[in-house]
Amino acid sequence: MTDKSASPPYVLLSWILWPALFAAGLVGAGFAFKAQAPLLWFNVVYLAIVFAIAMFERVMPFEKQWLNRDGETFNDIAHTLLSKGGVQLAAAMGATAPMAVATVAHPFVIGLPDMWPGSWPLMLQVALGLVIAEFGLYVAHRAAHEILSLWRFHALHHSVERLWVVNTGRFHFMDSLFKIALSQLPLYLLGAPLPVFLWIGAVTAFIGLLTHCNIDVRTGPLDLIFSTPRLHRWHHSRVLAEGNTNYGENLVLWDQLFGTYFNPDRRPPSNIGISGRVADSFIGQLLQPFSRKGYRQILGRRVHPDGQEIATGDRGSLSPSGAISENHQVQTDSTA
Ligand SMILES: [Zn+2]
Ligand SMILES: [Zn+2]
Repeated sequence: MTDKSASPPYVLLSWILWPALFAAGLVGAGFAFKAQAPLLWFNVVYLAIVFAIAMFERVMPFEKQWLNRDGETFNDIAHTLLSKGGVQLAAAMGATAPMAVATVAHPFVIGLPDMWPGSWPLMLQVALGLVIAEFGLYVAHRAAHEILSLWRFHALHHSVERLWVVNTGRFHFMDSLFKIALSQLPLYLLGAPLPVFLWIGAVTAFIGLLTHCNIDVRTGPLDLIFSTPRLHRWHHSRVLAEGNTNYGENLVLWDQLFGTYFNPDRRPPSNIGISGRVADSFIGQLLQPFSRKGYRQILGRRVHPDGQEIATGDRGSLSPSGAISENHQVQTDSTA
């Protein structure tokens, strides 16, 4: 914290920025959805918000040390394009997979009874859709932390040692597919219309960018509703009891209902990451979870060249943000 952080303009800006950037993204998305090439224009808006966040990260960083390069920028962007871009990448530049899935798959989903309250105002339908989708996101994210065979994919996201806008979309594609499946399928089955998917995609995109932002924003009561940077910084803690919390991607409703909401009155940790090790290269990171050796590297277990595991006897044998406390046995035989 510097002196300028106490000045009234700085304080005012720190309160305004989260809602302002979120609102700007949604207004931009509204224009994009009415344009002739909605996905193209949505991407333009998305990139504009990315640049705005990146600029404010330089001007008023939450953690100065997170401005330092970590050598992962290429990998971060590559994983974003692969996992978030998904189907959309084929047609345009990558943005968010939910939008692509909605656009491509929705016309083919027919023949299911229409249970969706389509007569409600669109914004209410979107709010309902967000709550339903969030349940799937919550279950998928919590499972990714509590089930080691899923943690092997999610660890990539937690392997970063700085949070900033560029590593927002750093997810292994298997991790993303699992999340998309659990969050989108219920909406398809209920018969939610395309605009609901598009707006949920937009909300997810902009809240996602903001959760990782290294801007010194203040969110106060918003922490009770949305997944804010403050809550997500706790989620990236190396300390298990802090990291296995705040699973919400957009809303924190399910965290509050299931007791995983965590927002103590102190500063979130700047030293984040995992004790396991992920591969250095993009391709290596993609392949690592699929081999037995790679899986153990991700968990932080040392492996002898002949494949035998070496007992380390320290906490490093377990993923700090994985589900297992140091007193539990890791059962790798059935899952590796
Ligand atoms: Zn996580
Ligand atoms: Zn994150």
